[in-house]
Amino acid sequence: MSYITNLKCKECGQEYPVAPLHVCETCFGPLEVNYDYAKIRAALTRAKIEARPHNLWRYRELLPVDGDPEVGPHSGFTPLVHCRRLGAELGLKSLYIKDDTVNHPTLSYKDRVVSVAITKAREFGFTTVSCASTGNLATAVAAHAARAGLKCFIFMPEGVEAGKIVGSTIYGAQVITIRGNYDDVNRLCSEIADKYGWAFVNINLRPYYTEGAKTFGFEIAEQLGWKLPDHVVVPTAGGTILPKVAKAFKELKDVGLVKGSNFKIYSAQAAGSAPVIHALHKGVDLITPVKPDTIAKSIAIGNPADGFYVLRAVRESGGWGDSASDPEIIDAIKLLARTEGIFAEPAGGTTLAVALKLIKQGRIKPDETLVVSITGNGYKTLEAVSSAIERPFVIDARLREFDALFERLGEGKPAAASA
Ligand SMILES: *Cc1c(COP(=O)(O)O)cnc(C)c1O
Ligand SMILES: [Zn+2]
Repeated sequence: MSYITNLKCKECGQEYPVAPLHVCETCFGPLEVNYDYAKIRAALTRAKIEARPHNLWRYRELLPVDGDPEVGPHSGFTPLVHCRRLGAELGLKSLYIKDDTVNHPTLSYKDRVVSVAITKAREFGFTTVSCASTGNLATAVAAHAARAGLKCFIFMPEGVEAGKIVGSTIYGAQVITIRGNYDDVNRLCSEIADKYGWAFVNINLRPYYTEGAKTFGFEIAEQLGWKLPDHVVVPTAGGTILPKVAKAFKELKDVGLVKGSNFKIYSAQAAGSAPVIHALHKGVDLITPVKPDTIAKSIAIGNPADGFYVLRAVRESGGWGDSASDPEIIDAIKLLARTEGIFAEPAGGTTLAVALKLIKQGRIKPDETLVVSITGNGYKTLEAVSSAIERPFVIDARLREFDALFERLGEGKPAAASA
């Protein structure tokens, strides 16, 4: 049973039927899924959710699907890690990492949005699915399409990490790289969607796809014991996840699952692709597109489709945002790995680096709860850090060589072996 009532234009409010539509015909505003919240409030309880399997479908009343979902049975419900060692370094007692480096099956937050989009694509009867991607979306669409038995075409800008090309092709998807940046890819894909009638998860299925991002926020609240954090830092690329985390928190209050605490939400962008942060810091609504140049390729979108809604969600919450340079991103990746044993990709380095700045700026107090969103896994982006880490030593298989090395490393003399 579905609780969706219709699609609704976010700008002028015009209503549309539940169909593969994403733009308002009257004002060109984006369409969003509308629910019957009164009915959800009556149907959904904490106990009901807690009794369900640990995947993103435990919040299915608040997701835009009709029947039983066939994809994503293991996606979502990733750990919320209480970071005691990192927290001690930063002077925070309640620091948490929401860890989508271990999202199933492709190790990024995109497994959430794609689980919902592919389920919806099947409900609409599509047989081919596709996407314009900076990399992580590609691997998620390719994997979920394979599982759902759908044909799959993937479009990415040239120069994305090898892990993302191999990680899409392996699932049998047709992968096409485009000479140009993500914004060029996206423009081409809009034309292909119109002409070929495929389900582009982040174009004509966008209203459904984006709803999947709410599960990141639902889980944070549930894992904090049905409480909202005081602060949450979220990366911004196209601008899907941040406003949806804010929406998730509001929905939980609206349907009575969380009692009215307030939260502040913060946007993190790489300095080499920070059009939303520029607008935020200038205090304007207009987002001036940039040409991305950063190692954080998965969030390198120079003309974010939903950038305006990021600004609005941040400002409404009383939050803020900042950007991080490539060296700051690398330092943050290393810091998280060294203190908590979590290897993030550059998008995660970006959110942590920005969280460090927000703490320094005094925006987050030592006794407040901070959640840092880590949205992708570092094993897929080894090239981003491989030149910034120590190379392994090479020695012969002789104890004498190791003894010499051990001393050279300043570790002191080895304990005398017992005879
Ligand atoms: C796609 C992506 C994001 C966020 O993108 P939005 O378009 O703003 O939702 C963040 N981190 C990673 C690793 C991603 O792949
Ligand atoms: Zn409209």
